Amino acid sequence: MKETINKTYEIDIQVSPVSSVNTVDFENLSFGKIFTDHMFEANYRDGRWQDCTIKPLTTLQLHPATSALHYGQAVFEGMKAFNNLEGKPRIFRPDMNLKRLNQSCERMAIPEVPEELFMDAIFNLVRIDANWIPDTNDGSLYIRPLIFATDDFVGIKPSDTFKLIIFCCPVSKYYQKPVRVYIQEEYIRAFPGGTGGVKAAGNYGATMMPLRTIREKGYDQMLWIDGVTHNRLQEIGTMNVFVQIGDAVITIPTDEGTILEGITRDSCIELLKEAGYPVEIRDVTIQELLNAHKAGILADAFGTGTAATVAPIGTIGYKDNNYELPPVETRKMSNWLKQEMWEIRKGVKEDRFGWMWEV
Ligand code: PMP
Repeated sequence: MKETINKTYEIDIQVSPVSSVNTVDFENLSFGKIFTDHMFEANYRDGRWQDCTIKPLTTLQLHPATSALHYGQAVFEGMKAFNNLEGKPRIFRPDMNLKRLNQSCERMAIPEVPEELFMDAIFNLVRIDANWIPDTNDGSLYIRPLIFATDDFVGIKPSDTFKLIIFCCPVSKYYQKPVRVYIQEEYIRAFPGGTGGVKAAGNYGATMMPLRTIREKGYDQMLWIDGVTHNRLQEIGTMNVFVQIGDAVITIPTDEGTILEGITRDSCIELLKEAGYPVEIRDVTIQELLNAHKAGILADAFGTGTAATVAPIGTIGYKDNNYELPPVETRKMSNWLKQEMWEIRKGVKEDRFGWMWEV
């Protein structure tokens, strides 16, 4: 357990006189469509973050020349708060999200967010909207920080002003069924030297057209491959990928800077190591994957990410073929990881890694 950092930034807190929490059906939440009562907002100008406010959720008024809308100088994060079984709200690894946010900021020429400001904003916001954290088995509060360039300026230059927004959505299961992924050969998500390793808004914008194409064919997400050899697996749309070939659990290295270093990925690696499973961090080629499938030794494949936690892959599409994976009930690895994550988050098991921060 960790304590919230002491305040050095004043946040002006305006509590909403009304709440819409009673209108929400927490048993049937659709992901990302329902928003809590409050939001956090801060502005960066004259070299520092200021105007920190928590206020009733509202729309933004932007100048048509707002730089981020044109040139995509914008980054975001995704993290979650959970109620443990006693109803105590706790946030999962916010230090890791801050670290990654600031890595994204650095790559996108956006000023870093100081730790005390970030933690104070997140913890106060979650405290104020704590009654929005679902108590259901699969429920959590998704927290979305984002930063974007706000200079009103037509022309390419790093912005001098930015806005930091944080809002929250009560959410439940992201995928209802095993995920159907398609190995995408035609379009490439990220190259060495690009921005694939950070959470830049444009990374996602460029995936929309190929995503629409494969959704029309009945797939959920792309399984991206690298743009240099056109043969190595990278990651799934919003998840890192793990495969189990025989007894070996393998996940893809992130040191090329093309794959987002997932916090769920890191947590799963820790859990697997702790349990004595050999985690191999190495490249996997399309051929190795399909050969393993053909040989009947592709025992498991799953994505890991904040939204879905651990999502078993049901089908891998490649060219005109579909490769079906073993039934989800038989998948020891992904089922075990999912359960371990749930038990730590819900406080069923001791938080021996110090991942849960009390709100
Ligand atoms: N890859 C991409 C491209 C993502 O957007 C995400 C979601 N943040 C992930 C992987 C998984 O990262 P995390 O486990 O930190 O959510």
